[in-house]
Amino acid sequence: MTERLTPIVIVGARGRMGKTLIREITHSDSMILEAAVDRSSGPGLGQDAGRLAGLHELGVTVTDDLRPRRNSVVVDFSLPHATEANLRRCQEAGVPLILGTTGLTKATRELMRTVGKDIAIVSSANFSVGITLMTKIAGIMAHALGDGWDAELLEIHHSHKRDAPSGTALRIAKAVAKATGRDLEGKQRTDRADPHARPRERGEIGIAAIRGGDSVGEHTLMFLADGERIELTHRATDRAIFARGALRAARWVVDRPPGLYSMPDVLGLAGLS
Ligand code: NAD
Repeated sequence: MTERLTPIVIVGARGRMGKTLIREITHSDSMILEAAVDRSSGPGLGQDAGRLAGLHELGVTVTDDLRPRRNSVVVDFSLPHATEANLRRCQEAGVPLILGTTGLTKATRELMRTVGKDIAIVSSANFSVGITLMTKIAGIMAHALGDGWDAELLEIHHSHKRDAPSGTALRIAKAVAKATGRDLEGKQRTDRADPHARPRERGEIGIAAIRGGDSVGEHTLMFLADGERIELTHRATDRAIFARGALRAARWVVDRPPGLYSMPDVLGLAGLS
């Protein structure tokens, strides 16, 4: 028996993530590209989505009108100013939403919670399966190791990245803090290389950042104790990992009741601690 293909609607189709998602769907045997949506202005509107993504023609034209069909899943990696309208469109159509757009305002998050009562939404600022697992494992390790171990994080990203430390590093640090009953605020230290930095204090979580080259993103969490050290590393070499994680979420969400979900839910890790 052949499995039903999941129809996917991509929002932000002309963007870096949008094109990656189109390529991943085209190479998959469990999904089909139902529609490709982007903003009204700019080049690429009216173009074939396959050609746009550097592939063969797919017969799906890029439009500026998000009208998802009932059995489809919307995958939105566009820009935060578009999110509220996209949430409402999905709510009206009664279809699930995978939301990868970052930098959402507080008001948009509140709307997401309201809309999440009517439709299933999986939202994550990092859809990488590896990072989701690493964050979970970081918490489990910190909890098991206890106070006697010092936690330090090192992250490396390409030379164009503006923010430091990375949002992902902060999330891992937060997981470590939470697992050990600490609040990251006040415990987070980013000044280890500063000549005037004071020595390490117990319970601190240090974060160091390196910028250069074309690194997609590396995160190493170290737990250090007298006589031993544990290192947990994730290395991203391709942005496609975010697209693959989001599409895994899209296949998972199909049979879920309305609600707000996260990547640990998709991977079955939510109850694990
Ligand atoms: P990008 O700038 O290359 O693409 C954004 C696309 O959205 C553009 O094609 C733009 O025209 C389109 N867009 C803008 N306004 C729109 C609207 N009103 N309706 C529809 N489309 C609209 O950016 P990108 O690198 O592809 O990233 C997109 C988003 O995904 C960003 O918020 C980024 O931070 C986020 N992101 C998330 C993850 C994750 O794992 N959650 C990973 C990578 C990127």
